[in-house]
Amino acid sequence: MKQNLHTHTIYCDGRDTPEQMLEAALARGFDSLGFSGHAPALFDPAAMSPAHLSAYMKDIRSLQTPIPVYLGIEEDLDSRVEHPEQFDYIIGSVHFLPCQDTLKSIDYTRKQFIELLEDTYGGSMPAMAAAYYEKAGQLAECTEADIAGHIDLIAKFNEHEDFFRFDDPVYLSCACEAVDRLAPGKIIEVNTGAMARGYRTRPYPDIHILQYMHEKKAKICLSSDCHDRSFLDYGFADALQLIRRCGFRSLMILTPDGFKEEDIDRF
Ligand SMILES: [Zn+2]
Ligand SMILES: [Zn+2]
Repeated sequence: MKQNLHTHTIYCDGRDTPEQMLEAALARGFDSLGFSGHAPALFDPAAMSPAHLSAYMKDIRSLQTPIPVYLGIEEDLDSRVEHPEQFDYIIGSVHFLPCQDTLKSIDYTRKQFIELLEDTYGGSMPAMAAAYYEKAGQLAECTEADIAGHIDLIAKFNEHEDFFRFDDPVYLSCACEAVDRLAPGKIIEVNTGAMARGYRTRPYPDIHILQYMHEKKAKICLSSDCHDRSFLDYGFADALQLIRRCGFRSLMILTPDGFKEEDIDRF
């Protein structure tokens, strides 16, 4: 069983058209595919404009396809979609933190990440982590969101623990509080996007958070946060191995009848 619900196209910051993405999915033996363009957000250069959004929706809905294709969207906590009912599913994500009187992306560049850390949090990583995970936890209250996306995106530039140790108890307590809020109602995404782009060798969330998610009986799904069709299933085998090691025995997948739990051995 193979599904990816986190897929970007030329309508936002992806490289390929929906059609090219679908072709790649078929060639790689996917059983279904979901598209998740960045919802319009004034402060986000990667987001779709309202005009792009309607073209995107039309394009996805009119794809000729032998496998189920789902129309989704990735909304940022700071710019939630106006008509959630138009989508088959919604990924809720946190990409921004406040900086002076604007919002700054935490994952755009390492340089910008450092600026944000210095300017808003006076160089204090625990303060920045607390602010970030507080926002990630707020996704629990976004009733329209089915999936919480890349919940430790703050670790994107931390492959070599330059900013914090992954097992730092202060850092982990912030992350675990977000998990406490998210686990009861949201599917939490295991996301290989930063692996495909060469930033990380392991998926989001990091193993300590994954282990805690398992303790809290969180439901998970696996996605590649794909921006380039050659990486549609990038890192899936490694991520599945890691998920199993953390004790998970099932994954959530979207079906024509909604989200269902599937045995991990089917993947
Ligand atoms: Zn995202
Ligand atoms: Zn994304």
